Amino acid sequence: MLKRENKTDVIIVGAGPAGISCAITLARAGKEVILIERGLFAGSKNVFGGAIYTQATKEIFPNFETEAPIERRNIEHNFAILGEEDSTTITYRKNDNSSYSVIRAKFDRWAAEEAKKAGAYIVEETVVRELIKEKNQVIGVKTELEEYFADIVILADGVNSLLAKQIGLRKDIDTKDVALSVKEVIKLDNQIINQRFKLKDDEGAIVEIFGGPMLGMLGLGFMYTNTDSVTIGLGITLNELAENNYRPYEILEKLKQHPTIAPLIEGGTLKEYSAHLIPEGGYKKIPKLCDNGVMIIGDAAMLVNNLHWEGTNLAMISGKLAAQTAVEAIEKNDFSKKTLSGYEKKLKKSFILKDLKTYRELMDVMHSRKKAFLCYYMKKINAFFEMFTSVNGIPKKENYHKFIKSIFTDRKISELFKDIWAIVKLLWSILI
Ligand SMILES: Cc1cc2nc3c(=O)[nH]c(=O)nc-3n(C[C@H](O)[C@H](O)[C@H](O)COP(=O)(O)OP(=O)(O)OC[C@H]3O[C@@H](n4cnc5c(N)ncnc54)[C@H](O)[C@@H]3O)c2cc1C
Repeated sequence: MLKRENKTDVIIVGAGPAGISCAITLARAGKEVILIERGLFAGSKNVFGGAIYTQATKEIFPNFETEAPIERRNIEHNFAILGEEDSTTITYRKNDNSSYSVIRAKFDRWAAEEAKKAGAYIVEETVVRELIKEKNQVIGVKTELEEYFADIVILADGVNSLLAKQIGLRKDIDTKDVALSVKEVIKLDNQIINQRFKLKDDEGAIVEIFGGPMLGMLGLGFMYTNTDSVTIGLGITLNELAENNYRPYEILEKLKQHPTIAPLIEGGTLKEYSAHLIPEGGYKKIPKLCDNGVMIIGDAAMLVNNLHWEGTNLAMISGKLAAQTAVEAIEKNDFSKKTLSGYEKKLKKSFILKDLKTYRELMDVMHSRKKAFLCYYMKKINAFFEMFTSVNGIPKKENYHKFIKSIFTDRKISELFKDIWAIVKLLWSILI
């Protein structure tokens, strides 16, 4: 199967969506590829919300909607701002198939099987410990037991990417550039889910949650409906957790008890409990993407659009683009950084770097104005609707005046100017 013992065209480390998409693209192009995964099987170690996105997934697996183990077709997207007891929710509903909820242990396993069918060679339960370099060129990997050699090594080893750090492509992640996410999968009867979320059998809903026990923190909560379970979780930046000595599971417990959330999961039984990191640094924190004989894809390259909860699509497409670059390099028999930088050019032309660039100022603005945007104004949105919906004999005009006046008494004029300036700066960077 391989050219000669332990030598192949490409070795990929990590069988998440990035590694699998890369492997399948290479295999379909007739290249020899070994995909090495430390888990018992692909997906066994993978944690996400989560939704996979149809457009990107179809680029790699054209028939996934009929063949893959998918849970529900997401037709509803809710944005819930929680107060202490109250909440404001905006719902967008459309009979759509632009995303599906999946369980990664099932989906990644299926996807890895597809890669195998296409001709990729998958080595499971094997940790890559080190990269092998010769004359400034990556030429292979060392596992616990063996050494494998290849013309190109592609790192798809996820958010921590110890291997990219080993060869100086990445630095340690700053704790403000990574979120710790905890989540639970709660088993519930299929019909109960349909009733509570107003869904029919294959339909699903997503809830993005702001405020509540995360009020004022750089963090978001999420819920996804699966066939017969509901996923609930949250992600908060590590520096926030460390500085305030917060325990994420305690915050999740409080979230589950909020009067808006509790009825959705009432009577469910805990099926699974997990934690994982999410890269949050965005465009400014993308590492060097290649060097002689090596490329980095997916979370390892910090390719996550956190505002939109998009990660798997960036992982899949970066995997595909790296694979296409590897095919070109193999055909030229040139594995230098210069040739592999074609990957970066492809990423720049794709939605991946364009989107991340669009949001390049987002995290800086949120870090500097989090007390304003993630605490004060969140509270004010619920206060507005409390005022708007109350029937108490006070003339409406008086209520409006009181509400507007409260903003000027709560916040100094200088603070208000800073808030407006931050919004203008953010919109400028997004739109211009
Ligand atoms: C809580 C949470 C919710 C999320 N929700 C969503 C969502 O709804 N939609 C979405 O699109 N994205 C979501 N994401 C992001 C998404 O999960 C990631 O962006 C995506 O999984 C990245 O894929 P990847 O292949 O780059 O990395 P991973 O999926 O992390 O895969 C890396 C693989 O490498 C393996 N590995 C690591 N080191 C080694 C080694 N040394 N040797 C061998 N194997 C190794 C790991 O076992 C793993 O299988 C979420 C993330 C989290 C944590």
